[in-house]
Amino acid sequence: MDVLALLNSRPLVNGAEQDALGRQWAVEHGGDGSGAELELLRQARDLLRDVVRGDASPVALRPLLEGVRQVPEVSADGLRWSVETPPHARLAVEAVLDWAAIEKDLPGRLRACANDECQLFLLDRSRANRARWCSMAACGNREKVRRHYQRNH
Ligand SMILES: [Zn+2]
Repeated sequence: MDVLALLNSRPLVNGAEQDALGRQWAVEHGGDGSGAELELLRQARDLLRDVVRGDASPVALRPLLEGVRQVPEVSADGLRWSVETPPHARLAVEAVLDWAAIEKDLPGRLRACANDECQLFLLDRSRANRARWCSMAACGNREKVRRHYQRNH
């Protein structure tokens, strides 16, 4: 489960919030789309949003990891670790694990779009680390137009 996909499942469209997180969304991302799964995913999305924005400590994610265990599995190819979760919690747990992996490998690179009127997040993988917008086409250009307008009025 891609944490960015989860964070960005609630875009503003023409100023109105749209929640893409429904049964179909969960199934498309490998879940079963049950009510319990959706409820936990929405909770995970809100908590991860607050943590990524710096409004909450990562400790807030703790309830999402209740009952999660890592188990070793040995096969002819060697040992690998797999994550055991309650079935409805798998996607939410994977999103938290994805967030943790990004924080470790690309600290600070997962961030909110700099456009105040946008609710999306971005993952900056560039060397320069200067990306500010979820998309140059949407929010980047809008910002340019706004600055241009301010300069000329
Ligand atoms: Zn944006």
